[in-house]
Amino acid sequence: MTELSETYDPEALEAKWREEWHESDLYRYDDDNDDTDTQYVIDTPPPYPTGDFHIGNALGWCYMDFAARYHRLQGENVSFPQGWDCHGLPTEVKVEENQDIRRTEVSREEFRELCIEHTEGQIDAMKETMGRLGFSQDWSQEYRTMDSEYWGKTQRSFVEMAEKGYVHRDEHPVNWCPRCETAIADAEVENIDTEGTLSTVRFSGVDNDDIEIATTRPELLAACVGMAVDPDDERYADRVGDTFEVPLFGQEVELIADEEVDGDFGTGAVMICTFGDKQDVDWWAEYDLDLRPVVTEDGRLAEDVPEFGGLAIDEAKAKISTALQKEGYLQDEEPIEQSVGACWRCDTPIEILSKEQWFVRVDREEILGKAQEIDWIPEHMYGRLEEWTEGMEWDWVISRQRVFATPIPAWSCDECDHWHIATLDELPAEPTEDDPDIECPDCGADAWTGETDVMDTWMDSSISALHAAGWPDAEFTPVQLREQGHEIIRTWAFYTILRTAALEGEKPWDEALINGMVLGTDGNKMSKSKDNSVAPEEVVKEHSADAFRQAMALGGQPGSDIQFQPKEVTSASRFLTKLWNITRFASQHLDAESGGSAADDGAFDEAATDADRWILSRCARVADEVAADMDEYRFDRALRKVREFVWHDLADDYVELIKGRLYEGDPAERDAARHALSTTLSASLRLLAPFSPFLAEEAYHHLPDTSGSVHAAAWPALDIADDAAEARGERIAAVASAVRAWKSDEGMALNADLDRIEVYADGIAELDTGDLSATVNAPVTVETGEPDVEMVAVGVDPDHSTIGPEFRDQAGAVVGALEAADPATIERQKREDGRIEIDLDGETVTLDGDAVAVEREQRVAGEEVAVLDAEDTTVLVFP
Ligand SMILES: [Zn+2]
Ligand SMILES: [Zn+2]
Repeated sequence: MTELSETYDPEALEAKWREEWHESDLYRYDDDNDDTDTQYVIDTPPPYPTGDFHIGNALGWCYMDFAARYHRLQGENVSFPQGWDCHGLPTEVKVEENQDIRRTEVSREEFRELCIEHTEGQIDAMKETMGRLGFSQDWSQEYRTMDSEYWGKTQRSFVEMAEKGYVHRDEHPVNWCPRCETAIADAEVENIDTEGTLSTVRFSGVDNDDIEIATTRPELLAACVGMAVDPDDERYADRVGDTFEVPLFGQEVELIADEEVDGDFGTGAVMICTFGDKQDVDWWAEYDLDLRPVVTEDGRLAEDVPEFGGLAIDEAKAKISTALQKEGYLQDEEPIEQSVGACWRCDTPIEILSKEQWFVRVDREEILGKAQEIDWIPEHMYGRLEEWTEGMEWDWVISRQRVFATPIPAWSCDECDHWHIATLDELPAEPTEDDPDIECPDCGADAWTGETDVMDTWMDSSISALHAAGWPDAEFTPVQLREQGHEIIRTWAFYTILRTAALEGEKPWDEALINGMVLGTDGNKMSKSKDNSVAPEEVVKEHSADAFRQAMALGGQPGSDIQFQPKEVTSASRFLTKLWNITRFASQHLDAESGGSAADDGAFDEAATDADRWILSRCARVADEVAADMDEYRFDRALRKVREFVWHDLADDYVELIKGRLYEGDPAERDAARHALSTTLSASLRLLAPFSPFLAEEAYHHLPDTSGSVHAAAWPALDIADDAAEARGERIAAVASAVRAWKSDEGMALNADLDRIEVYADGIAELDTGDLSATVNAPVTVETGEPDVEMVAVGVDPDHSTIGPEFRDQAGAVVGALEAADPATIERQKREDGRIEIDLDGETVTLDGDAVAVEREQRVAGEEVAVLDAEDTTVLVFP
């Protein structure tokens, strides 16, 4: 039993334990243990290695870490792996910037190497922050999607899905980012609001009247293949089937009627281009229209567009508008607020291009069926997934025209258009480097060209649950938990469910825990420009990781956005200091024999007082309640209960009540107090350990009868409950607290002795008064019935502002007479007559009763007493 150091120094303490935990391999998952009932596997998000582990990340990881640590205390075999989602465009762009090169200037291989090197540096920085925040990942399970060990699995999943008919290669319109020069999936398109221009353009009729259409994209006139109106629009009732000449470009197009046209937009007539938007794609397919692609992959009009070829889209828009005006086609222009689809990585408005790409089939029913088997926390998050899934129109385009990503393991035959997708034994495959050793099954040729397209990075991260479960070596069973932010439900959650259902016919996880955002101190979204953002590192430096983690837990229930509250961090720091101090106090009084309370066997010490029984019984109850909250991921509620118990019941009340026994009790009674203190403190540290792992660990090591880490200990299971003792203990604590408050109000020292105290504890016949008496420093008796308290007049307080003006030069004499009179007589006069008569040198003077206040005191049988109200108990303090 060593004493805790005098001051709580979180910086040194947290550094020390980070080091020790790292060395002891404390959080290692036991993969030899195949008992699935006690397995708790977390499908941890592999973050994108930006180098910055921000506060939004921290919230999600706090939730996972609270859950991981809690489940370890429950004796479960916890797997908390950590991966890194390395591939992707932002890294390519960063490397181009840092190296001052274009990716096309070096070989694919060389470029990949540069990306890997860059990514490793970013990962190190983020791991450092994760360590400081006290997260308990099992680093022996670390994975990086850029390692062939991992991307070989991504390829395998692709091959298996192809075998099951989920993969197809087709020419199909896709969302295209002209800046990133790659196809992107629906989920990567963000709608942004912009100011546009609505142009009204006249098309000349071919053997019929002209027509006016409204468009925000005159630059697509060269791609116009038709026009459409609402069939119910009376203005155009007899125009359907008319033909028109497209201004400037001359192709002839026909007017069709389709219910999807919004007759209230512009003139009610719109042009159909290949492709302005998804609606155009639908009409193009439905009415079998021509394909006139005019936009290039880098966002220009194609060279073969007469007069305007090669212009960037914005330039083309301006020049075509001017030309329309010059030629008399432009009827009107007005500003319009519009929502356009943009690339989520770079905010560039997307184009829709028809390209040959690889697709994964989206089976909406299958996905929703599996999603319904998952427990969503909070429940309404399922709705977000459902809404997204039901709105999916296109299959998932998984090919990207980039470099730093998992290669698509496929080759095309040089002689015919047969595609060979790798077999499992050809994996991992680098199709741009190695060719398959087979003949083309269609034409017999043996020359192949490897696919240069690579996979969407979500193809890597959406097998994280499978990877966490040991796929493909182990038979797949859903893992226990997925934790993630709500903004990636439509991507990461959606794709993971799709893939696990397709590959294994299972849901990926039992539970999906969703976190909200961390808002700035002003309640707004954090942003560097608003100066309201907070870096977790800074908070840890100023306070501690233990306090930061508590603030994250208390922000709100999972799923809700939480506002970062500096005052929560400060209050957590105060709480931790308090806990440090009581542990230090305890460590001075406990010795090796103090541990192992009898409470462990479901029985109290024989010499246990009401206070001991109360705190142990309360502790057992709190441990159960906190476990129930933790099972439901209500970290906010759980931590509040722990803090309330430790601060209020244990520190403020119980420790005060037993000080007398600890210093000078009889040995048996002192031991009972030590047992209860040691047991309760040890349990409290275990309840707190998921939230504030550092202090809990340090303090735990200073208790008797503990060995090893608190994080390898068991959740408190105090099989002990005594409702009657709890009720008595609460009374005792309430009385002690009321007397303490009264002494403080009276300006008395807290250990000042009192003549005696009488307690009228309604409904409780017997109360153990020993601890109470020692605490309040007075003999204590427990009485029955109601105390016979009377109010006695002990003085008067004349009101000078009334007496002065009324009695002028006599006022001083009147006041003197009032003060000399018997207060009881004045009180009676006030009560009975409403006025007061006094004798002033033989003359009777009459005052209004309100001119004099009577001071009263409480008396019991004539003795001075203070009457205190302590919950349901009346306390008489005889000073
Ligand atoms: Zn982009
Ligand atoms: Zn062939």
